[in-house]
Amino acid sequence: MTTHITQDEIIEFTREIIRTPSINPPGDTRQCAEILLNKFKKDHIDAEIVEGRSGACNVVARLKGDGEGRSLLLNGHIDVVPPGEDWTVDPFWAEIKDHKIYGRGTSDMKSGIASMMAAMIGLKRSGAPFHGEILFMAVCDEETGSEYGTAYLLKKGFGKNADFAIVAEPTGLRVELGNRGLRWVDITVKGKASHAGRPHLGINAIVYGAKLVEAIQSVKFKDRNEAFEIPEPSLSVTVIHGGTKENIIPDRCDLVLDRRMIPGETTETVMKELQEVITPLLQEEKNVRIDVKMRPNYWDPYLLSEEEPIVQALVDSVREVTGKEPGTGAKAGCTDGSHLFHLGRIPAVLFGPGNAGLSHKADEWVAIDNILAATDVFSSLFNRLQIQPG
Ligand SMILES: [Zn+2]
Repeated sequence: MTTHITQDEIIEFTREIIRTPSINPPGDTRQCAEILLNKFKKDHIDAEIVEGRSGACNVVARLKGDGEGRSLLLNGHIDVVPPGEDWTVDPFWAEIKDHKIYGRGTSDMKSGIASMMAAMIGLKRSGAPFHGEILFMAVCDEETGSEYGTAYLLKKGFGKNADFAIVAEPTGLRVELGNRGLRWVDITVKGKASHAGRPHLGINAIVYGAKLVEAIQSVKFKDRNEAFEIPEPSLSVTVIHGGTKENIIPDRCDLVLDRRMIPGETTETVMKELQEVITPLLQEEKNVRIDVKMRPNYWDPYLLSEEEPIVQALVDSVREVTGKEPGTGAKAGCTDGSHLFHLGRIPAVLFGPGNAGLSHKADEWVAIDNILAATDVFSSLFNRLQIQPG
């Protein structure tokens, strides 16, 4: 289908961006953004770099059609998490073995970016008439909260006319309709210090921290949503700090909670549930203080209807390219789809060539056939939207 861009060009471009580390933290995406920009420029596609903060670069590119039509937003993140240990290949060499490309960011999600770009370049080279607009955002900062990436661009007005969006997160060519939400909560338990030889004179914050951990682990959730890969909400203690010295009764214990949410849950419901856990503990010991603070960066849960035009068009395109009915579902983790949906009010589908099960792991890889299939799916989708002007 993509007769205007060869398979070799797509594969080599994917490898080039994998070989350009854009590790977050620290989140410097300058070099990778330059490569994307130059790739677009070579084909005379209007593109620019938009810096969220120093070094945190986003790339925005635009293909404008020759008539009125809908605006499709394509989104993918160029930052990757650090490689970590246990690799058996160089994480930044994009080695090919058994028709797979290995490296950090292969699945999550530089292959998705490459296939979106390849489809855009293919469309541009074909010179085919085209209605509406395709707006592409390769964003930074996704792995640390999106403040300088997708959220930044949306607040600057990019994508304000978009009718729908696709985020090329790894879905293994499945069409995913949303993601669970996330809140991080900092909790400080404050007691009273004393000499450990006279513990009765103090209030041991670690002991109350431990009681709180136990109470948190026993929270039961009534609601489920079977559309999600993991249908229940969850509440986990992920960090704990307490104590300063062997012989001091600790006056402070800090916890961090990770709370995954399904649609219907909000900041208010999450806070109320926590208060219900904390109140009995405070009644037990009047001199303990427990401060609860929700972090400002958050992702709200969302789930699109299967009836959304972008969902149906994408499902039709996957079927056309692969000859198979694509599975649907919704992600357990968070994506920029949350920000596009809640901040940008844009229905955002998740679809990409990578394998979600390999994200953030050693020896991450992506199947070359999936990259080529995803490129064909995006090309088919452009066609489909072109023949259905808005
Ligand atoms: Zn990702």
